[in-house]
Amino acid sequence: PLARELMRIVIVGHVDHGKSTLVGRLFHDTGSLPDGKFEAIKAMCERRGMPFEWAFLMDAFQSERDQGITIDTAQIWFKTKKRDYTIIDAPGHREFIKNMITGASSAEAALMLIDAGHGIQQQSRLHAFLLSLLGVRQIAVIVNKMDLVDFSADRFAAIRREYTDYLASLGITPSYIIPVAARDGDNIAEKSTRMAWYDGPTLIEALDSFHPAAPLAELPLRLPVQDVYKFDDRRILAGRIASGRLKVGDRLVFSPSNKTARISSIETWSAPPRGEAEAGESVGITLDEQLFIERGEIASHVERAPLESHVFAARLFWLGRAPLEIGHTYRLRLQTREVNVTVERVDGLYDPERFTLNPGGTVARNDIAEVSLRSPALLALDAATDNPKTGRFVLADGGNIVAGGTISLQGIADERAA
Ligand code: GDP
Repeated sequence: PLARELMRIVIVGHVDHGKSTLVGRLFHDTGSLPDGKFEAIKAMCERRGMPFEWAFLMDAFQSERDQGITIDTAQIWFKTKKRDYTIIDAPGHREFIKNMITGASSAEAALMLIDAGHGIQQQSRLHAFLLSLLGVRQIAVIVNKMDLVDFSADRFAAIRREYTDYLASLGITPSYIIPVAARDGDNIAEKSTRMAWYDGPTLIEALDSFHPAAPLAELPLRLPVQDVYKFDDRRILAGRIASGRLKVGDRLVFSPSNKTARISSIETWSAPPRGEAEAGESVGITLDEQLFIERGEIASHVERAPLESHVFAARLFWLGRAPLEIGHTYRLRLQTREVNVTVERVDGLYDPERFTLNPGGTVARNDIAEVSLRSPALLALDAATDNPKTGRFVLADGGNIVAGGTISLQGIADERAA
């Protein structure tokens, strides 16, 4: 069967602006809920004499899923005619950063929710700021609870103006700004008859118009070596292909050791040996030469190898209880590689209120900083803007994750031996 296209979206918004309600509506209005679920929760609310809330429905739905399956429960799905959607859950600031940086997935599009009555809050600004730093470019602003402002075109226009100006200051141009009443379904899947003045797309139409990120398989090959097995004199290098594809006969270079060899065979765990494999697949490869390769190296094609350097620039999302310490040794985890690094310098620190970049200072919990990192070991590096898998890392201290980071390679010289 043809695989359906999947898009990962994140929904952000101040608490109570209607996130759960919107998610419930998206599921219901696209027919993605199991049969009878909606009716059952509605009946339960009536029996208990409380108003129906879409949030109850989503809680019930989520808890059933949590019990039934073991896959990442932070992710839920709904379907439109066009494709499937995964919602990356982002309940709070920390979860948001963690899921975006360390999680398996990064959002391809974002919905930013604003309560029409309460308008733009500091959190609405913070979320936009984080999205801009994380490089999410496809954004729809959802002005919710339009019923509470009598579906006023003027109120909508005022919010649109103020938020568009703010987003522009972050370099974000929202693709859409949509007035909705999520609770009642206005402009979600159906055009609202109560906002005849609005002539833009419904939320579903807006979502379906977004472009999925280039599939990971289309990016340059990156195979982080996870294990090396030795049997019958052969060495098998095993790992999960982070991006790109490989086939028997390809010449690979391993970074940072800079050793090269050709692929002799590709073993997959489930199927007989194959001629090729691509991003997402776990493979074992054998080479035409005996190379001594260790866990943590990254295999790529010779002509599109990662840059090698002892130093690099990074944007750090600091999550540690203790502030960042310049000169202190942290453990850098980058795919299957784990090495020591020190922060040489804080190049800039974002002001948490106004989100401007200021000269360095103390980087404390929830701060975002631009820093320079150095490792005694040579590192294989990709910029986060080039590769979402190998361009992101975490820093650990004493086993605890203290930061998520994205790699920037601007101005970094390649130290790869010729
Ligand atoms: P969350 O905290 O962002 O997940 O917000 P919820 O989805 O729980 O919604 C917060 C409250 O706003 C709930 O009582 C919802 O019923 C209410 N709400 C959500 N959407 C609408 C809407 O379109 N109109 C009105 N009047 N209330 C809404």
